[in-house]
Amino acid sequence: MFTNAGMNQFKDIFLGEARAHFPRIADTQRCLRVSGKHNDLEEVGIDTYHHTLFEMLGNWSFGDYFKKEAIAWSWELLTEVYKLDKDRLYVTIFEGDEADGLSRDEDAYAYWKTIIPEDRILLGNKKDNFWEMGDTGPCGPCSEIHVDCRPDTERTVVDGKTLVNADHPQVIEIWNLVFMQFNRQKDGSLNPLPAKHVDTGMGFERLVRVIQGKTSNYDTDVFQPIIGYIADRAGIPYGQDEKTDIAMRVLADHIRAISFTIADGQLPSNNKAGYVIRRILRRAVRYAYTFLHFKEPFLHELVPLLAKQFEGVFDELKSQQDFVQKVVLEEEQSFLRTLVTGVQRFENYVKEKQAITGDFAFELYDTFGFPIDLTELLAREKGLKVDMRGFQQALAAQKDRSRAATVIDTDDWVVLHESETVDFVGYDRLECETEVLKYRKI
Ligand code: ATP
Ligand code: MG
Ligand code: MG
Ligand code: MG
Repeated sequence: MFTNAGMNQFKDIFLGEARAHFPRIADTQRCLRVSGKHNDLEEVGIDTYHHTLFEMLGNWSFGDYFKKEAIAWSWELLTEVYKLDKDRLYVTIFEGDEADGLSRDEDAYAYWKTIIPEDRILLGNKKDNFWEMGDTGPCGPCSEIHVDCRPDTERTVVDGKTLVNADHPQVIEIWNLVFMQFNRQKDGSLNPLPAKHVDTGMGFERLVRVIQGKTSNYDTDVFQPIIGYIADRAGIPYGQDEKTDIAMRVLADHIRAISFTIADGQLPSNNKAGYVIRRILRRAVRYAYTFLHFKEPFLHELVPLLAKQFEGVFDELKSQQDFVQKVVLEEEQSFLRTLVTGVQRFENYVKEKQAITGDFAFELYDTFGFPIDLTELLAREKGLKVDMRGFQQALAAQKDRSRAATVIDTDDWVVLHESETVDFVGYDRLECETEVLKYRKI
């Protein structure tokens, strides 16, 4: 439903179905990772480097340069242009995968060996080092560049060598160099692509963080103006308490996703892409309400700030500022009306219950407009689980009821069959595809 990586719009070129006007390109692509294969929503705000919407910077070769150049140029850009400390960088390469009949990426390994000490080249598995857009489509092994931002005192040194720790929140991936070689088929097999391509993706906000020497993306000048405004209006300093910090980060992040998706032509609604926006917005409203004590609509105030920040970069926000602000305000107003009672109902419920039943989750969804992931979030905060199966059943039962009521007379038209519209049942799964309404004139 959304562009989740810089390569999405180049898919046809990779598949050989469209011709590239230029064999080499560099760009920035706004990406959203809140659904499907790449869904980072749960991390956003909790950690300091996954966003719902971020800019993916990329350089591209369409059948032109390949691994050797991509590796050498990425290193040059990071260390000679951006002047990042070489000693803090390390890289990963694909270790191979027997089931897919893929061997270790020896070429990438050999090129990196001429650039970086061997102990800073790590092997990565299919999950991290084989890039796939989805279940099918162009894909290939990749090589990632990570930065160790830990203070010197926390970086373990053994025999004069720094050891890397990929599981530390201050050790972050900033750039992924993907070598597109295959096309994943529906049956799972891999076919070689007509030509080999390079697709790289570097998170702009992470890059800024490293260049500006910060320990969080939210401490950079990309996010600080917004965080500062939220803190001021909430009357709570940022950096004082983890709970309120998370809430401020969530708001600062979510307003970007909300504003840009609306500016790009989507509106919050009850299905498909519109529901994704609604869910992100409701999540933000709930954080603002509960942790920052905004009892009145607040998010919309952030739109002009963003528009100003992106003026000259993404002007579409400035030119639609009033419209976007109005849409956000209306959404906030309507959700705040049910949120208060819904939260109260939830609090009373969890006083007595050890788990959230499907029926109760459905009640929150149906009566109070709580997206299921919001209920899951509330439950998680209390250390409780939601019966997702039960929720899906309750949802399906409601659909059956409404399906039974879909034969309706409308003037001289009869609706013979109205398939249900897409109910968004989770960021990772859709229950059914939308069908065009079928009418027959009588
Ligand atoms: P991570 O392992 O940190 O989740 P990834 O491997 O999923 O990142 P890629 O799909 O390789 O990310 O995307 C290329 C680059 O885009 C990453 O190296 C990172 O700099 C950036 N990036 C990916 N996801 C996010 C996100 N949710 N927010 C901000 N930047 C991101
Ligand atoms: Mg990821
Ligand atoms: Mg990764
Ligand atoms: Mg990656």
